[in-house]
Amino acid sequence: MIPYGRQDVNQADIDAVIDILKSDWLTQGPSVGDFEKTLCKKVGAEYAVAVNSATSALHLACLALDLGSGDWLWTSPNSFVASANCALYCGANVDFVDIDPHTYNISIDALQEKLIFAEKNGTLPKILIPVHFAGQSCDMEAIAVLSKKYGFKIIEDASHAIGGKYQNRSIGDCFYSDMTIFSFHPVKIITTGEGGAILTNQSLLHERILQLRSHGITRDSQLMKNFSHGPWYYEQVHLGFNYRLTDIQAGLGLSQIKRLEMYIDKRHDIAAIYQRSLSALPLVLPYQSNQAYSAYHLYVIQIDPSKVSITREHLFFALHKAGIGVNVHYIPIHTQPYYQQLGFSIGDFPEAERYYKNALSLPMYPTLTRLDQEKVIKIIQENLQ
Ligand SMILES: *Cc1c(COP(=O)(O)O)cnc(C)c1O
Repeated sequence: MIPYGRQDVNQADIDAVIDILKSDWLTQGPSVGDFEKTLCKKVGAEYAVAVNSATSALHLACLALDLGSGDWLWTSPNSFVASANCALYCGANVDFVDIDPHTYNISIDALQEKLIFAEKNGTLPKILIPVHFAGQSCDMEAIAVLSKKYGFKIIEDASHAIGGKYQNRSIGDCFYSDMTIFSFHPVKIITTGEGGAILTNQSLLHERILQLRSHGITRDSQLMKNFSHGPWYYEQVHLGFNYRLTDIQAGLGLSQIKRLEMYIDKRHDIAAIYQRSLSALPLVLPYQSNQAYSAYHLYVIQIDPSKVSITREHLFFALHKAGIGVNVHYIPIHTQPYYQQLGFSIGDFPEAERYYKNALSLPMYPTLTRLDQEKVIKIIQENLQ
């Protein structure tokens, strides 16, 4: 089976992990610190905190901004459920902003309209989570202008987007946001098995997240309520979690991140071949904003139902029958049973729903061979001509 995405693990990665297995540290230790420093340097942020998943990263980022009961968090319906669930973990309310039909990212017009309405109703969001879908940045400059006007904080969900750029700045530098989170799940751009990180330029947020990552415990006497009892002493000052990344995982991450640029180049090469080979067919190919340089986590095509008689389902099954594991990203979050039960209805975010009906994610990963890609293209051509 040719999958839609997969990790690339080479001998250097394996050697790096074995070195750590033979060392004194398995859980969070010096390699996690090195990984965090490397992340900061790569993307140009002041601080990085590595955690055990992007889901944990989103949870801690929301807690660091004091999201709680009675607050609103807004995100994109065209995302993985984790982008919205983090609000519910904090006891806050979640709502969505419909997507732009070209970029499949949050629509700035829809956001503006919803903010005007929310201001009248007294339901302005405390946090907005723009999701850089498929690795292409949202229009962060426009979002930052609105955040100043309406007073909300911004957490970029860049789970798809490490290695991407916006206005020639690396995604993750937090120039237009309070924090950025990355995912290191195997299907994403680089992997630590499971893992994630929070990037920020604000020292207060950094301190809070460090504590929350490990039980809300501090060993820093400056942050303690009482005098230290001795060198063994620590204090729990918040209710935190065990969201730590292991040194084993950080060792893999440190080895993987050396190939970040190569991975992004490869993904662009693959996208260019799809673009060349599929542009004459009745398909919608990924629109690329001139402000953004995508990390191309996904290559999503849409069947144009007005131009072809076959459906997305037909093409999905034809490709699977040929051993090509295409997938669909994403089922709009508000249509999930759990969210329906919270009061959302089908029809609430029509652009995300329309897009979902026709979308198909083609194989896209750095080790996809030319031969395998030609096979994917051939099956699509045969079905659409
Ligand atoms: C993968 C993903 C997540 C969750 O990442 P984990 O590391 O698996 O927790 C969150 N948001 C988006 C947009 C994702 O694609």
